[in-house]
Amino acid sequence: MERYQAATMAAVKTKTCRRCQAKYDPSKNTTSLCRFHPSFFVCRRHDDQKRYYELGPNDPPYAAKFYDCCGAEDPDASGCATDYHISYDD
Ligand SMILES: [Zn+2]
Ligand SMILES: [Zn+2]
Repeated sequence: MERYQAATMAAVKTKTCRRCQAKYDPSKNTTSLCRFHPSFFVCRRHDDQKRYYELGPNDPPYAAKFYDCCGAEDPDASGCATDYHISYDD
């Protein structure tokens, strides 16, 4: 019985997601596993129509650095969108 279990474990091959670099089990991939930002981290003024970030009185205008998709100002902020992980061979 134990030998059978070991063989089953070895058969599970994890893949690496090319979007978030996470290792995942392809058989358990769901649309909520991969968190990412669909847009780039940029360094410019926020669009005036979409003011996510209020500059302080002493901040230069270029102090605004943020993800263009959601306005998150931390480059390590977890993604604002989720989808399936995508492997390098998909
Ligand atoms: Zn992913
Ligand atoms: Zn985002």
